[in-house]
Amino acid sequence: MTTPPKGFAGTGSPEREQLLGAAVRTPRPSRLRRPLALAPKAREAAVALGLDDVEKLLEHVPRARREARTVGALSPGETATVLVEVRSIASRAVRRRGMRPLVEATVADATGPMKATFFNQPWLLERYRPGTRLVLHGKYVGRNSFRVSNHATTEEAASGGDEVSHYAASEGLSSTQIFALVSAERAALRDIVDTLPARLRARLALAERSAALEAMHFGESAREVERGRERLAFEELLYAQLALLARRAREDAGAPAFPLAQEGSLTERWCREALPFRLTADQQAAIETLRCELAAERPAQRLLMGEVGSGKTVVALYAMLRAIEHGHQAALMAPTETLAEQHFATIQRLLGSEPVTLALLTGSTPPARRATLLARLGSGECSLLVGTHALIEDAVRFRSLAVAVVDEQHRFGVRQRTALQAKAPAGRAPHVLHLTATPIPRTLALCEYGDLDQTRLRERPHGRPTAATHVVSGERERARAYERIAEELRAGRQAFVVCPLVEASELEEPAVGAGAAAQARAATAEFERLRAGELREFRLVLLHGQLGHREKQAAMAAFAAGEADVLVATTVIEVGIDVPNATVMLIENAERFGISQLHQLRGRVGRGEHESLCLLCGPKSSPRLNALARHDDGFELAEIDLRLRKEGDLIGTRQSGVGQFQFARLPDDESLLFRARECAAAVIAADPRLEAPEHTLLADRLADLHGEIASHPIAA
Ligand code: ADP
Ligand code: MG
Repeated sequence: MTTPPKGFAGTGSPEREQLLGAAVRTPRPSRLRRPLALAPKAREAAVALGLDDVEKLLEHVPRARREARTVGALSPGETATVLVEVRSIASRAVRRRGMRPLVEATVADATGPMKATFFNQPWLLERYRPGTRLVLHGKYVGRNSFRVSNHATTEEAASGGDEVSHYAASEGLSSTQIFALVSAERAALRDIVDTLPARLRARLALAERSAALEAMHFGESAREVERGRERLAFEELLYAQLALLARRAREDAGAPAFPLAQEGSLTERWCREALPFRLTADQQAAIETLRCELAAERPAQRLLMGEVGSGKTVVALYAMLRAIEHGHQAALMAPTETLAEQHFATIQRLLGSEPVTLALLTGSTPPARRATLLARLGSGECSLLVGTHALIEDAVRFRSLAVAVVDEQHRFGVRQRTALQAKAPAGRAPHVLHLTATPIPRTLALCEYGDLDQTRLRERPHGRPTAATHVVSGERERARAYERIAEELRAGRQAFVVCPLVEASELEEPAVGAGAAAQARAATAEFERLRAGELREFRLVLLHGQLGHREKQAAMAAFAAGEADVLVATTVIEVGIDVPNATVMLIENAERFGISQLHQLRGRVGRGEHESLCLLCGPKSSPRLNALARHDDGFELAEIDLRLRKEGDLIGTRQSGVGQFQFARLPDDESLLFRARECAAAVIAADPRLEAPEHTLLADRLADLHGEIASHPIAA
């Protein structure tokens, strides 16, 4: 048995003597409400940091990743810690005598770059090569410039290198002062109440909350600190999952759905005869899951994830047809008119000759049509409605809505979802299926959509592989790449050349809109270069965001019609170009794009019958580019993406709920998350409303932490 780190209880059973001799702890939480013993100025600074009282102070643990600020959020004069990556680094002579050269680095996080200055340490030039991830502590002096006082690589920092083991502090209250305060209040840790039920703590062999906090402040080894962090991370993940599952339990206990349990006369015939293709195994599995789920009174709440073209609409249509064959109605709500129209067309096509009356309702449906439609909906004559937000307006009344499908659910707010729910007859709730084309990594999906059951469609229906992807580095490979493009073009195919994102550091004047202009300049330059150089025997067109609407249309039309062989473009081509004859894409400085963006970009080639190719110009060492070369599954890539950008508060992770945690680090804490999920599910299954006496403290704390989530639907 391994001995537990100091400060934690062992896992063995204590002897009777030991038990009798153990100190009795009687926490008195009111003592934690004391203000901090500080002079008025410093107290103000403490309050500004959120350190209102002793309890807040003790919960202000060092080295939590939330300490780090993002570059974009720094304000002049602020002392802060940031997690950044070195982009470039150079030294500069200083004119004053006796001073060693300055080292200046361009560093960046997801919110942008800045210039970091290191004084008197010329050797850093060799140590912090571009690509190194650093923890920097220092002062943001404004004008995109940061004076570094402490620094370490992220590895050093994580393993407890004490240069950066400090507290989030401010100008008026230093990290050292905070540490002194925490040390002075150490005894108060005993007044912290553990809200987790004793039985649960015993079963999972969890340390007490106070011991975990103590370990984080005063732990002597990295391992001890880490154990403390894990304990606190588990607790916060547990509460987050409890909030989600409690909400779902409340919904489940509310109005029942229509159980759709009869034999599927319509759906069976439809699958057998009307569908022009065979369902993929993923689609079949999703349909089977839905068949069982819709048969129950418990309203289905399922998230169906699948990339564009994975065949979500077919699955959604199955669910809707289940409603219809039971004499009820179904609705599909899309976020835009275009999407609603597309769904309507797809559904019409997929229905073949099945006698289902369906209608389309959007903001631009003419009033007379709309009036007839509403009447037919109220009478039940129309059984399937596709539309936009227009279909949740008050005037829209269904006779008997049983299944609702919400496409791209994250774009709808809570109120719209609730309004759709309310379209079911009184005393009933609809079964709801949410669709999203964003492949969400498992950990993220559990945190953000943990109140929904989840299904993934990973298989590609057409069996058409994504473009074979290669990383192109160096002049020889680049020359070969243009040869390959020329071969494709001579064979009558077409090509995209995607121009790089221009980085802020390269802009002469980093003003708003300067990026787009620089982008356009870069694309224009590349267009001219290729037209006179490697691709001079072909017809090229140029497309970028600064062109007028007419010019853009003309360029796209020429390319779509095959009148141009090559489209040289900025990322504007990400949206909606469908040219099946385009078989090759070359992306310049591909390492500047995110994984998902590259994956989307290459989705633009290989839409036809021919084999296709994606050439990523960039360093062979780039993990992101290699991931793209190796994987074509968007879900796999999303997982890799999350793992690669785990440090810091990155765009995307913050928006999607992983950044909401103080202690948990996802996806690293994946196994903690799964345990927390399991544990929360067991608690809620046994006591859905948390009414048992042993759950009193738990329920209280849940309301404190997630009050809003607990009493309202979670923000969609
Ligand atoms: P999504 O909504 O996930 O983007 P759709 O359901 O709109 O995907 O399907 C994309 C296209 O693929 C549609 O034209 C659809 O008819 C077709 N499709 C769907 N499933 C299959 C399948 N199993 N085999 C062949 N084609 C399919
Ligand atoms: Mg679709």
